[in-house]
Amino acid sequence: MTAVRGVWMDLAACRSSEGALFFAPESSERKEERLERENRAKRICQGCEVREECLAAALERHESHGIWGGLNEMERRVLVRH
Ligand code: SF4
Repeated sequence: MTAVRGVWMDLAACRSSEGALFFAPESSERKEERLERENRAKRICQGCEVREECLAAALERHESHGIWGGLNEMERRVLVRH
């Protein structure tokens, strides 16, 4: 499972990662669990060579869930407002 869709996906650092790292589980998740999961995903994003493309695509789609380009949904909303 990968967190990306698009022509640049072949270069995504998350291609072989668990999609579950990048998206909240269907069941509830404690705050500490969410932070740990998101931090693990963000560390993968930090080394991703298509991070900018990924973030731009998520912003363009108004992606409302998951880690994209190293940012979670709340961080992307803040970015769009500024
Ligand atoms: S920035 Fe993160 S979510 Fe986006 S393609 Fe790279 S590793 Fe995957």
